Formats: sequence, C-alpha cells, structure tokens
Amino acid sequence: MSELGTESRPLRVAIIGSGPSGFYAADALIRAEQAVTVDMFERLPNPYGLVRAGVAPDHAKIKNVIKIYERIAEKPGFTYYGNVEFGKDLGIDDLKKHYDATIFANGASSDRSLNIPGEDLEGSLPATEFVGWYNGHPDYRDLQFDFSHETAVVIGQGNVAIDVCRILCKTVEELRVTDIAQHALDQLANSKIRTVYMVGRRGPVQAKFTQIEIKEMGRLQDCDAHVEPGVFNLDPSSQAELDDPENKSAPKIVPILKDIANTNPNGKSKTLNIEFCKSPVEIKGTDRVESIVLEENELTGEPYKMKARGNGKMMEIPCGLVLRSVGYRGNPLPGVPFDDDNGVFPNENGSILGGPEAAGLYVVGWIKRGPSGVIGTNKPDSQLTVAQLLEDMPSLTPCEIPDSDSLIEGIRANGTRIVSYEDWKKIDQQEVAHGEASGKPREKLTRVSEMLDLLDS
Ligand code: NAP
Repeated sequence: MSELGTESRPLRVAIIGSGPSGFYAADALIRAEQAVTVDMFERLPNPYGLVRAGVAPDHAKIKNVIKIYERIAEKPGFTYYGNVEFGKDLGIDDLKKHYDATIFANGASSDRSLNIPGEDLEGSLPATEFVGWYNGHPDYRDLQFDFSHETAVVIGQGNVAIDVCRILCKTVEELRVTDIAQHALDQLANSKIRTVYMVGRRGPVQAKFTQIEIKEMGRLQDCDAHVEPGVFNLDPSSQAELDDPENKSAPKIVPILKDIANTNPNGKSKTLNIEFCKSPVEIKGTDRVESIVLEENELTGEPYKMKARGNGKMMEIPCGLVLRSVGYRGNPLPGVPFDDDNGVFPNENGSILGGPEAAGLYVVGWIKRGPSGVIGTNKPDSQLTVAQLLEDMPSLTPCEIPDSDSLIEGIRANGTRIVSYEDWKKIDQQEVAHGEASGKPREKLTRVSEMLDLLDS
C-alpha cells in the first residue's frame, strides 16, 4: 500500500509557476489532511506572475492579494525556487524522478492574432507586450513603443483592452504615483497620443469589460470618453440579453455606457472613442502602421450566441499605434501534452490527459481553463485540481528520489543562481525603498541581472 501523504513519507508536489493559480494550489496542498511538501519553481527571480506583471499599475488594491501569497510562502512545507526555468534548468524527467506529482501553473503568456493583412507592420503589437512593458516584466523591458503619432487604436473590449486604454489616456501625474516601470513612465511622458479608439466587434451588450473598469473610463482626469448614442438601438437578440434578469454583466455596464454617451465633452486634452460593431480588416502602411481599416458589423444569432458579420461599410482611421487585445494564449512545454486548438493542457478536473506518460501531471489556472476570470477565480479552480490530485494519491507512482537536494545541487552546478524566498524579500524591500524616494509604492527592478546583482553585491 502507498505510504504517500504520511509524516514519514509526505506527498511531494512540484508547482511550475508562481502566479495566483500556483499559490492557491500550494495553499490547498499545505492545508490538506495528508502530509505534503511543495516546491514551487519560477522562471523569473520574482514570484506572483500576472499580479506583478499583468495587473495595471494604477490598480494597487488588486495587488493586496500578494499579502495572502506571502503568508502561504512562509508556511512549513513550502519552498520557493526562483530563477529556475522549466525546459532549461529542469525537465519533465527530473520532476518525475523527484516528485510524486507536478502541477503546472504556467499561465497563458502569448497573444492571439487577428489574422489580417498588415498585422506585422511596425507599430502593430499585441497588448500582452505593452502590458509586460509598462509593468516592468524583464522579457519586455527593452521594447520600444512609438507614441509620436496622435492616434492609437486598441482592438478588443475586455478588461485588458480597458487597462491598455487607461494607461494611454491617463496623465503622467496620474501614473507617477503608481508602480509603473520607470522606463514606461519616461516614454509615456513624451506621448503625443491625443485620441484612442477602443474597438469591439460586437455591441455594448456583449462587451467583456466589467462595471468598475468601464466606470473609471468616464472619470479620467484629462480624457473625455465618447460613445455614439446610436449603438443603443439594439437588435432583438441583444435586447433579450439585456432584459434577462440572470444576466450579470450587460445590465450593469450598458447604463454606464449610456451615461458616457450622454455626457458632453469637457474639452479635455485626450479623447477615448469606444466603438462598437466594428472589426479590423486591414492595417495599412508602407514601413510602419499608417492607418487601420474597420468594417461595420451586423449582429446575428440567438441571445448569448451572437456573431458579428461585416456589412461591407468601411471606415479608415489614420493612426500610428495598433494594440490588439483579443485574448491571451497558452504555450506548449516540452514533454507536456498540449491542446493546440485551445492553447491549454488537455485535462479532466485538472488531471492532464495523455496516457500513462501524463500520470501524476496536473494543471491549474489559465493553462488549464483558458484566459478567463479574475484573480479570485483561480482559488476554487486550483482547489478542484488539488482535490483531484489527493483523490488520485493512492494510485500515484512514488518518485524514485524523494528529496530535492540532488536536483537543486544539479541546477546550481549548471551555473543557475537560484533565488530563494528570502532572497526575493530582499529584492522586494529594495524595490519598496527605492519607490518611496519618488512617491511610488515600489520601483521595480526590471532586469533579471539587476535582481541577481542586488542579491550578490
Ligand atoms: P477577454 O475578456 O476575453 O476579451 C477579449 C476581447 O477580444 C473581447 O472583446 C472579444 O470580443 C475580443 N476579440 C476576440 N477575438 C477578436 C477578433 N478576432 N476581432 C476582434 N475582437 C476580438 O480577454 P482579456 O481582456 O484579455 O482578459 C482576460 C481575462 O483577464 C478576463 O477574464 C478579464 O476579465 C481578466 N482581467 C481582469 C482585470 C480586472 O479585473 N481589472 C484586468 C485585466 C484582465 P468577443 O466578445 O466578440 O469575442
């Protein structure tokens, strides 16, 4: 009989990724009745995934959730290994040798494409890169965005599109007091952008952004938001969605959009045009983006299944920057089954599907269910995966080497500077201290080398 989960042989679980879904999985494991040890591996020196590199800098309250993750990280049985990359420093065979189970919590870091001509022109970029850049993610730190043109167009109407528009529309004074990366603040300070379009392919009833986020857009210090009143002449299916008492979204956001439509512009220096029922069909330019062509859409289909179909009426907007914000997408990892159509690891209740080779492999978060939901959505999602793992425990094959020492020694011997949680706290303190000096909650270190140098100086 398996002894896994006993004091003499705790269940050994590796977690790959340190965002919210990884921490909620660690928490559920540590709280389990069985004895469990958790080793969390993170590619970057710093933990917290999209809470640090995705949540907008001006949404500081959302980041308070980090306090919960700090408490989890300090619990007995939990160890953090930062600056360790799956696929480079360790692979699936290492994990199987040293752990009874592995939970992948590596998120969805790529973007989805529009598949239209001109998408690859200079000045046309995924919002994922812009978000990583202003949030100081080391992978995007050296990107350059050209803000020398007057108009920017953001495609998509989810909360990421809203974040991106808000960063483009806020004043430097509004951004200066946030934890926005200094390189981004410096470049945005010289921005010539005066008009931003946020373009949705369907109508106001189908918009994906949420109530608080759209309300904020009507209250920006130096930006007038604008919605054409005609967009509220709804087709019967959209009207049925809006009238549905079970609908938790549209009845909240449509009145806010109507308020925006009914508010006269205040002569502010920037304008945000929220456009509905339009799809991009081409991005034009010789060497770089010069304009975008949008086609007007009609909506067809039953309530909640409405599709946008072009009606042939085109409009062309001269612009210098196009950011597509049409959803994130997961990437494959070596040795882990991947569902390419959906950009996720195929799974049933979080247990990765793929025959005997996938036994003991689990998944949580966006790489499990796709890029949906807010931070809190990950807690029950991770708990379900952990419940499945614990249910499977009697049938798991105990690992060959039930400790981490030789694995960690091997990674170090290959020249990798592993960052412990105590190391991270030093980086954290330095960032906060550095930020205080300029009135920011923190000044992020945005290069891996800067973080490692700080630890070893
Ligand atoms: P999202 O909510 O799924 O929105 C994607 C948007 O892209 C939708 O408007 C969608 O329109 C549009 N789209 C997709 N394909 C398109 C195409 N080919 N052409 C034109 N438009 C297209 O995704 P997201 O904004 O990336 O956000 C991901 C998740 O993170 C969401 O759950 C979001 O709520 C969450 N998040 C939350 C916050 C917050 O709480 N403040 C902040 C950021 C992100 P259709 O509806 O027509 O498909």
